[in-house]
Amino acid sequence: MGKPYRECKFCGAHLDAGEICDCRKPKREPQAAEGAPRRMRLVAICREVDKDTGRIAVYPINREINNEMVMAMKTRATLNPELRYFTLVSARWERFGDVITSILKRRTVTAADVERIGGIVEL
Ligand SMILES: [Zn+2]
Repeated sequence: MGKPYRECKFCGAHLDAGEICDCRKPKREPQAAEGAPRRMRLVAICREVDKDTGRIAVYPINREINNEMVMAMKTRATLNPELRYFTLVSARWERFGDVITSILKRRTVTAADVERIGGIVEL
């Protein structure tokens, strides 16, 4: 039995034994190339409730968001009620990340709360 790899609890990446996934590390800011148009990019945000302490953490997932990632996050949110995932475009996250984080850190975040933030979708 037993899989040859572990899965990261947060993003589903396959990890070697003892390997720590980098999905929760703060993304290093890419040097903005002068004059280069910024590509529209999707960011995924994880809201995690610590099962022991009840503390709520909100952090971006440091991975490219493609269909596969979206499916993995949806599955994870279904299997782990303490995890919720949201996506929005990176420009919006860069601009309103602090506000969005503080709203998502509230004890209760309803679908209506998410809708009021605007431009962000729960997976
Ligand atoms: Zn991960």
